[in-house]
Amino acid sequence: MPTQARTATLREQDKRHLWHPFTQQADWVQTDPLVIERGEGNWLIDTDGNRYLDGVSSLWTNVHGHRRPELDAALTEQLGKIAHSTLLGLGSVPSIELAARLTDIAPQGLTRVFYSDSGSTAVEIALKLAFQFCLQNGAPERSKFASMHNAYHGDTIGSVSVGGMDLFHATYRAMLFDSVKVESPYCYRCPFGQEPTQCDHQCDKQCFGHVADVMERHGHELAAFVIEPLVQGAAGQITHPHGYLRHVRELCDRHGVLLIADEVAVGFGKTGTMFACEQEEVSPDLLCLAKGISAGYLPLAATLTTERLYEGFLGRHEDFRTFFHGHTFTGNPLACAVAIRSLDLFASDCLLEHVRDIATHLADGLKPLAALPHVGDIRQRGIMTGIELVADRSTKAAYDVAERAGHRVCMLAREHGVIVRNLGDVIVLMPPLSVTHEEIGLLCTAVGKAIAEVTG
Ligand code: PMP
Repeated sequence: MPTQARTATLREQDKRHLWHPFTQQADWVQTDPLVIERGEGNWLIDTDGNRYLDGVSSLWTNVHGHRRPELDAALTEQLGKIAHSTLLGLGSVPSIELAARLTDIAPQGLTRVFYSDSGSTAVEIALKLAFQFCLQNGAPERSKFASMHNAYHGDTIGSVSVGGMDLFHATYRAMLFDSVKVESPYCYRCPFGQEPTQCDHQCDKQCFGHVADVMERHGHELAAFVIEPLVQGAAGQITHPHGYLRHVRELCDRHGVLLIADEVAVGFGKTGTMFACEQEEVSPDLLCLAKGISAGYLPLAATLTTERLYEGFLGRHEDFRTFFHGHTFTGNPLACAVAIRSLDLFASDCLLEHVRDIATHLADGLKPLAALPHVGDIRQRGIMTGIELVADRSTKAAYDVAERAGHRVCMLAREHGVIVRNLGDVIVLMPPLSVTHEEIGLLCTAVGKAIAEVTG
């Protein structure tokens, strides 16, 4: 079949049979979607052979880009042995080896790994573990969770319950359990009306006092505090003030509350260190990992925890201290084999040093965008970047939702050769960590042009 006819058929079948995530299908069927067929390094190639720079590493996952030969080889080597075996009553080689590697590089004290298969399940497991730990270790009154406004922790009922994005979560409110909500330190739109000067967040930090107050009032009833360290990704790459995570850790310690760090988005180098927690010298009680863990190759997630929590589940069978949780694909050998090889690449490519260098280059490339009249704020930590568009920079007034300014920018950016995604009117840039200086130049130029064209 000629290339264009094949693309047309695929588009037609897509519209007829697929239901896309987070997508208003009534809009989708009006479009001619790109259909991606191949990846090559940091590039995506559609069914018509057009090439696009992958400006969001697929879904914040492909830390080494696409079709990295070493990862492809790890997968085929493991395929030559076994594709699936269960951790229920059996061990499996790659899952054991990966657990040892992860606990080696994780923040101090995280010695135990519980596997699952998505970011949502990693969070769900952390919530259930924390709840059950309190229940069976003399603190049954600690049955609630604190979480942040603007938080996104996944789409399952538990992770939605601790979410804080009304657009995604309000519909399901009647199905959810209550959590104690903490205002998000969203400096550009400070909920306390402060005007911090750019990213050093100079102000009198009412957000620090606010979280201390919440913990004073509710600490006694909390099993855990769940937070996305340093950056609230899905809400628009909201970067937290320096010291905020450390402050939350100290409050958790003071009030006997467990800390759950959801590093599903920020983990695996995206903020410039392997884990974001490292930047504030924080060790959480539970660490949720997914996305970059398997370099975007296969679904894999892990919830890491401490000996203290693990020992809280050591009981005789009749104590019912078993953790009653486990998914069919828990610790899948193919995914674990790729994850191990991905960690090797972090070392052999000196990838964290590369990300820090790229982050500086990216910051320079973004400077001209900051001067555009409808760019209200540019937030960046490592390679994670959010560009917030506003209708009026002096008042920070948002665009009318119906204008779909962010969406239109992303569609136009494709014409300039890059794929990026918007979260409302925030344009997200999160290329693979392996992105080059030249590609960063292309990304910034293309996005800048698209913003200028849409916002005039
Ligand atoms: N936590 C965070 C911080 C996330 O960004 C995401 C996904 N974007 C999730 C959890 C959920 O992960 P998944 O989509 O793999 O369930």
